[in-house]
Amino acid sequence: MIKANNPKLRSWIATKADSDFPIQNLPFGVFKSKNKSPRAGSRIGDFVIDLHELQELGFLSDLDLPEEVFLHTSLNYFISQGKDTTGAVRERLSEILQSGNNELQDKEEAKSKVLIPESEVEMLLPVHIGDYTDFYSSEQHAFNVGSMFRDPDNALMPNWKHIPVGYHGRASSIVVSGTEIHRPKGQTLPPDSKQPVFGPSKRLDFELEMAFITGKSTKLGETVSTDQADEYIFGFVLFNDWSARDIQKWEYVPLGPFLAKNFASAVSPWIVTLEALEPFRVSGPKQEPEVLPYLKSKGDRNFDINLEVSIEPEGAVETLVSRSNFKHMYWNVNQQLAHQTVNGCNLNVGDMYASGTISGPTPDAYGSMLELAWMGTKPLKMSDGTERKFIHDGDTVYIRGYAEKEGIRVGFGEVKNKILPSK
Ligand code: CA
Repeated sequence: MIKANNPKLRSWIATKADSDFPIQNLPFGVFKSKNKSPRAGSRIGDFVIDLHELQELGFLSDLDLPEEVFLHTSLNYFISQGKDTTGAVRERLSEILQSGNNELQDKEEAKSKVLIPESEVEMLLPVHIGDYTDFYSSEQHAFNVGSMFRDPDNALMPNWKHIPVGYHGRASSIVVSGTEIHRPKGQTLPPDSKQPVFGPSKRLDFELEMAFITGKSTKLGETVSTDQADEYIFGFVLFNDWSARDIQKWEYVPLGPFLAKNFASAVSPWIVTLEALEPFRVSGPKQEPEVLPYLKSKGDRNFDINLEVSIEPEGAVETLVSRSNFKHMYWNVNQQLAHQTVNGCNLNVGDMYASGTISGPTPDAYGSMLELAWMGTKPLKMSDGTERKFIHDGDTVYIRGYAEKEGIRVGFGEVKNKILPSK
């Protein structure tokens, strides 16, 4: 049992019952503030923890960390120290912050340097992302899209239950929550037309996803088995894989999505570690037919993480449009990583692997507007009385997620983006 995960632990820093960041979470991210250059931080309740200050003040001196390991614009250098080190930092944070420990609690000046109200910081992209893979691992999503674009009787392609299908996406346009996104322009084929037109997408959509980040590299030619995958997975974020359905429909044959997907994807700023998610493991769906030996995985490899999507029209309040769960994934992350590397493709620290849209089994659990409004045939009612088939200019889309068990809630905060008109 990981000590920092003990559900009985309480902190001397008060956290609200519905906070995503109790002492059992302690995620990692990168922040800056008026007085502080970009650096690594952790989070408890409404406070960001300045890890560099904590190190400077000697609180981490037993951990043999490199000097200024936290004073970087991304977590890559810290993560590359390995899980023994990153796990030890989380354990030490848990120790310093737990009720009964007064090493920091009693030092007013140190506390004011280390603990910064969350409202005073700006969160940055947590890692430098070299490569980005997007999987397609939710059966309900693949079935829905296959039914709409092809044929309900043959919705899943013959390879789908044998391969964790994925493609290599674009890393340069992955942005942190809060970034405003301009509606993409591109080629589309209007209904009943033989000639494409150019202009702003008319079918802008979100995709409710989660992503994991690798914390350990491999050399070209090496593979990572499903058993070894946990050593390579540092943690998880919420992921909105923005998509332009009309551009996608016209361009995706024969090589798959291109400009319909690479104009923006957004992540939540806090990486929740694999260790913090251990208590929330559950078994995945039964895989039938049997998968090839290199894809077989033992134990509980799915995670029970509640996921929600809301749309906030300009000047109106949010409307909840979807409630799903990460546990619905057909292919688990260990299988995804084993498949990614089975041909010898190498991994780097900070690479990102998105799950694919996570659609639950019922229509209110679908993970995209394409599915929720079923290709525009079932518009969704917003709080201000307007309807949505896809996302309008001025809309802000929120994805939120948290796991909860034995009264302990470990969450991700949110990823939100406002959509602006085309440039
Ligand atoms: Ca996607």
